Amino acid sequence: MGSFIEISEVGPRDGLQSIKRIMPLAAKKAWITAEADCGVPEIEVGSFVPAKILPQLADTAKLVAHARSIDGLKVAVLVPNLRGAQDAIKAGTHKITIPLSASETHSLANVKRTHKQMLAAVREIANLIKSAPKNKRPLFEGGISTAFGCTLEGAIPKAKILELAHALMDAGCDEVGLSDTTGYATPDHVISLVKAVKNVVGEQNLKGLHLHNTRGLGLTNVFAALEHGITTIDASLGGIGGCPFAPGASGNIVTEDLVFMLDSMGFKTGIDLGALLKVRDIVTDALPGEPMYGFIPDAGLPKS
Ligand code: ZN
Repeated sequence: MGSFIEISEVGPRDGLQSIKRIMPLAAKKAWITAEADCGVPEIEVGSFVPAKILPQLADTAKLVAHARSIDGLKVAVLVPNLRGAQDAIKAGTHKITIPLSASETHSLANVKRTHKQMLAAVREIANLIKSAPKNKRPLFEGGISTAFGCTLEGAIPKAKILELAHALMDAGCDEVGLSDTTGYATPDHVISLVKAVKNVVGEQNLKGLHLHNTRGLGLTNVFAALEHGITTIDASLGGIGGCPFAPGASGNIVTEDLVFMLDSMGFKTGIDLGALLKVRDIVTDALPGEPMYGFIPDAGLPKS
């Protein structure tokens, strides 16, 4: 306890990605600024995908530029391929994550690429980063998605995850992350996979966990992960975006609830929870009627 846990806000990317109604650029900028002002250390501001595939994220380059102007904020984006990485580096992103779906069926359905093709892209991106001037090189994370199971393939064998984690590092990633894209993870599964992957890639090369709260186990899974050396947790304000497979369930774990749990346990997040709760208004005003989740926002902060 007492150590720093880095919360990475992914609402502007993962949350908005599943919302059709476009959030105006000005509101996104205000959201990012407000969260940074609360002390959120890292924000994933968007994804460099073609605008015709995800019109909601078409303004990612503008958001990177905006977020870069905020002192001390780490600016992260998702990139699906080399082209996306080129755009991300040009924009001056601090961290890029390429998602590699552990389920090859999911990978083919989603990005029409096999594991082999994705790993070839990872290698190209790693070379691109190496060729950039030192101060323009982003941290490069290989995010293993559907790591805890896939809606198409079901359970993914642990050996497959370990093989991919090793392959991502071998192809030039700085670190790997684990994503519970489908919300299947349970605490025992988190512990066993985190331990096994750290064994393969090294203690320092698996820091981050990306969780969804589809089945209500998000924070329990965080607790399990913290006990086993995970130090970066993705979350989204108000758990926005929801879950298409589970009506009433939030999307990502809710940032406000996560901060509350970590604060209460004596971890440091650097985030002012009272101020963070007010940031919800920016999202609600820009997307009226869009469900916002979270227990702390409803229950309020306890007296102390
Ligand atoms: Zn996600």
